[in-house]
Amino acid sequence: MIRFYEIAPFVPITYTYEIDKIHYKAKSAYQEIMVIENPQLGKMLILDGIVQLTEKDEFFYHEMITHVAMHAHPNPKKVVIIGGGDGGTVREVLKHDTVEKVYFVEIDREVIHVSRTFFPTVACSVDDSRVEIHCMDGAEFVKKTARDIDIVIVDSTDPIGFATSLFTEGFFNTVRQCLNNEGFFVTHTESLLLHKNIVIEAQQALRKSFPVVDIYTAPIATYPGNWWAFAIASGTLDPRVMKRPCTVETRFYDNEMHSHSFLPRGFYEKLMTGKLTW
Ligand code: SAM
Repeated sequence: MIRFYEIAPFVPITYTYEIDKIHYKAKSAYQEIMVIENPQLGKMLILDGIVQLTEKDEFFYHEMITHVAMHAHPNPKKVVIIGGGDGGTVREVLKHDTVEKVYFVEIDREVIHVSRTFFPTVACSVDDSRVEIHCMDGAEFVKKTARDIDIVIVDSTDPIGFATSLFTEGFFNTVRQCLNNEGFFVTHTESLLLHKNIVIEAQQALRKSFPVVDIYTAPIATYPGNWWAFAIASGTLDPRVMKRPCTVETRFYDNEMHSHSFLPRGFYEKLMTGKLTW
């Protein structure tokens, strides 16, 4: 039995996965791309040694990174997705009939190609006519091209290497400029359990550009630390309040999950004022 060892970024923890088969392994211009078969989780996409998705649980992440902001907005028409080369977030965004345009900004075209080949149920919407694919750095796209946007979603790799451009104050500020008044920004900010400082620092940085900043979480069992935190920010609207009921087909996200996913306000305050130690 061969095994894959994932060394979790930033913390001294290693996860072990048994491999039934290596479907694909190659280096792109940006990273090593690997697709393996695990007997329990199905196919897994791994970039530079870090698990990006598994067939079994990808819906938790893709639904939660997408539908909270999409339902907190009254009428999302233009959406920018940065990263997300597997196509899972594109699939979820396009479940909303309001959407007219998706700017899909993935730096590495090979990831899209590999996902089309090995994860057809995840990449199933990337060739939809409403999707405009831009293979470039998402921070550059937001600075130079994005205007009049309703939702910006960062579905990137961890804040390492070329993904670090997506976690800076400067980037958050340019995102604010490209959003409409009722627009939302969402990004993943790692695990609340293992990467508490990253979660807090992202909130603090976002508060410099956005008046409304919050955290919601979801269980992503195959990401290190499992208890995954998403930062959500806007110029005016409260992301805890749904502007439209959930009518799209989902497995995990629904009306009740929307409010359930936000940290209770007391707990959020304790987190942000340094009163929680672990
Ligand atoms: N759900 C995954 C996670 O959180 O582990 C992310 C999956 S998706 C495959 C991540 C994608 O972000 C990768 O394909 C990577 O190439 C892309 N990416 C990283 N930095 C980027 C940047 N600065 N601009 C555009 N895409 C970027």
